[in-house]
Amino acid sequence: MEEGGLGIRRIEDWNKAATGVHFWDIAIKKDSLWVKWIHGRFIKSKTIWEIAPRALSTVIWKRIIASREWIKTKVKYIIYKGTEVNICSDPWLEGECLNYHFGGRLALLFSLPKDTKLNWLNTNGVWVKPRRWLNELDDLWETINQIEIGGHQPDELVWGPSKFGILSLSETWKEVHCRTIKKSWTNWVWQHPQIPKHLFTLWLACLNKLSSLARLFQKNLVAPPTSVLCAAYPESNHHLFFQCSFSTQVWGSVLSKVGIQRPQISSVTSEIDWLELTFKVEVLKTIFHVLIATSRWHIWLECNRKIFKRKTTLKDAFVSLILRDSRIKINQCALKAVISSELDRMRRGLDIQLLELSLQSQEVRWETPQRDWTKANTDGYLSDDRAGYGLLLRDHLGNLIMAEAAHTRRNSINFLELLAIEQSMKLATYLGTQNLWVENDSKVAIHWLTQ
Ligand SMILES: [Zn+2]
Repeated sequence: MEEGGLGIRRIEDWNKAATGVHFWDIAIKKDSLWVKWIHGRFIKSKTIWEIAPRALSTVIWKRIIASREWIKTKVKYIIYKGTEVNICSDPWLEGECLNYHFGGRLALLFSLPKDTKLNWLNTNGVWVKPRRWLNELDDLWETINQIEIGGHQPDELVWGPSKFGILSLSETWKEVHCRTIKKSWTNWVWQHPQIPKHLFTLWLACLNKLSSLARLFQKNLVAPPTSVLCAAYPESNHHLFFQCSFSTQVWGSVLSKVGIQRPQISSVTSEIDWLELTFKVEVLKTIFHVLIATSRWHIWLECNRKIFKRKTTLKDAFVSLILRDSRIKINQCALKAVISSELDRMRRGLDIQLLELSLQSQEVRWETPQRDWTKANTDGYLSDDRAGYGLLLRDHLGNLIMAEAAHTRRNSINFLELLAIEQSMKLATYLGTQNLWVENDSKVAIHWLTQ
């Protein structure tokens, strides 16, 4: 998502990442029945680092073994006593096994049994050169001497790219998939509630992928186009939304309707920066986001209407259309009002409804539920950088049965309130509760559940 896409993963890369996890489980001898079976059935006295698949082995087994080539470049052995690492066939030497260099010659030369461990070369944390060592292997000995050893723990295989040395599916995914540059606007595009077709057009506009005449021109399918809306300048996505006299006038009118005066802005990133600097309250950001997406959608629609239907809309009617669609969406969002002069101006200009906050204090008492009932008090929360929910389950005496609080992905506050209620129901079911009384402070959530 952060690279500007829709979060859809290439199945080929995903398979490669998942196979890598299987390989890792086998390499670290994870305590699972499947890993034990693999070792007993296929690997036996060898290691996963040296075993070769047979011609008739299954495809998945061949794939798991093939992961070795890229995994061995990312792993590292931390050697303490040297009692876990196979001297010839584990890749402890800068990601390589001794067998890769010498075939089986080293084992033959020193008459080493197959399962000889690395402590054959070290004693009490010091490398000790074996007798009968060959002069031609002195370079190898130099390399070995530089590897730090010592300590009393078992040797460890660690995943180099991860901070904690542990490999997981997300870690292998990071390694195998082809990354492109992060886009600064991705979170901003997706984080607000929006009419889906408006959101989709906004996303394509940010990606510069709207199917405009400019894109057809890039593919040599049409002559160099001039702007459909102003007929004065060469067309491009950037011109359409930030330079075209028609769109800048329309966007200026929309902004002045909601009481915003500011100089013209020339790119999506500057628009986001301005928005983040100017509005500190989430509800203002959401309203502005709806206005941007709705305007972009209507400008794009107007462009197409002009090309395909040869019709144009008068500017005032066009601005009214944008304001009408924005109003419908904002009213659907059931946003909570806050004390802000900017918000007051927006409310007047757009004629939107927000959930009012009562400023009068009111005493509220917590009441115990009836006998044989459990009461759940739930709440969702959303701040500028965090989101989550909390809940308490109590019995008819007011005794706490269970409590839970968790951070979640950012979403609308109503979603988080509903999530808190759902979680309280799940926990109550898990506890075998027959009668549950749920309390929540969100009128919208209660309305959605009870209507
Ligand atoms: Zn233009």
